[in-house]
Amino acid sequence: MPKTWNMSGRWRENDSGDTAAHEIGHMMGLIDRYHGKIPVSDEGWKGNVMGIDDVTNVDERNINEALAVKFNKITKKGDCK
Ligand SMILES: [Zn+2]
Repeated sequence: MPKTWNMSGRWRENDSGDTAAHEIGHMMGLIDRYHGKIPVSDEGWKGNVMGIDDVTNVDERNINEALAVKFNKITKKGDCK
């Protein structure tokens, strides 16, 4: 069964660290990088914290997106699906 993110900006105390990191990403303005009824990470986002994989990492794209949101270069586009 694929991992699913079921909240936006919130997590339960027994959720994984990956879930907490993903939701903190939303709090920083990052958007989901996965799609589909049975979710899969978007092209090029496999293994990223905003994707849907078992192993998740933060990379420069996440930092750049968060900084762009912070400095109003882009607007927040969405939350967990
Ligand atoms: Zn999400």
